[in-house]
Amino acid sequence: MKKIVVAIDGPAGAGKSTVSQIAAKKLGFTYIDTGAMYRAVAWKALQKKVEITDDVILSVLPGIEITLSYKDGKTKVFVGDKEVTEEIRTPEINKIVSKVAALPKVREKLTELQRKMGESGNVLMDGRDIGTFVFPNAEVKIFLTASVEERARRRYEELKLKGFDVDLKEIEKDIERRDKLDSERETAPLKQAKDAVLLDTTGLSIDEVVEKIVKLCEVA
Ligand code: C5P
Repeated sequence: MKKIVVAIDGPAGAGKSTVSQIAAKKLGFTYIDTGAMYRAVAWKALQKKVEITDDVILSVLPGIEITLSYKDGKTKVFVGDKEVTEEIRTPEINKIVSKVAALPKVREKLTELQRKMGESGNVLMDGRDIGTFVFPNAEVKIFLTASVEERARRRYEELKLKGFDVDLKEIEKDIERRDKLDSERETAPLKQAKDAVLLDTTGLSIDEVVEKIVKLCEVA
């Protein structure tokens, strides 16, 4: 099989990272979670313990070193030497990450890093703009989605399992707010690439979605 790039985009809570990690492992590909990179910038800004303005976000950009380590189907995220895998998935980060991701300077820096990470091929990258902007020539493009109710329910279960005191309706609102910000921003907004395959995961199990993704990759 020739070396390929697989781009998986879609709205918040569509299950991208869950199915992508498993599909990448099955394919023997490297998985790159680009959402984790935007979350890492948000995490670094929060460390300043001041109100999060555009200037505060931009001030952490120059020196930031983000590393993703993907092993045995799991991703670990580092900012410098500090592992932040869990800390970047809190409601606090959810609240500010789309504001971080709307800044063109942030996108420029992370897009460059993502292109470098993907250049050797056999990577599966998920995000919002991978098939439209980061790798417009990706061999496989998938737009993963699900109803907003199902996406909110999945996030609710995930956060509850981690011990957060969460409210389903609040999560639904947060997801809708993030989708709106991500879809309406000027730079590389969330949208389905013209040549992407639409995969609605509402009512599908993780295994069923993984199987569909792996099949699409095998025929590419
Ligand atoms: O995928 P995840 O929910 O972890 O992404 C967090 C946020 O990062 C998204 O809501 C979006 O604002 C931003 N993002 C982006 N472009 C990407 C990946 C994520 O703007 N390629």
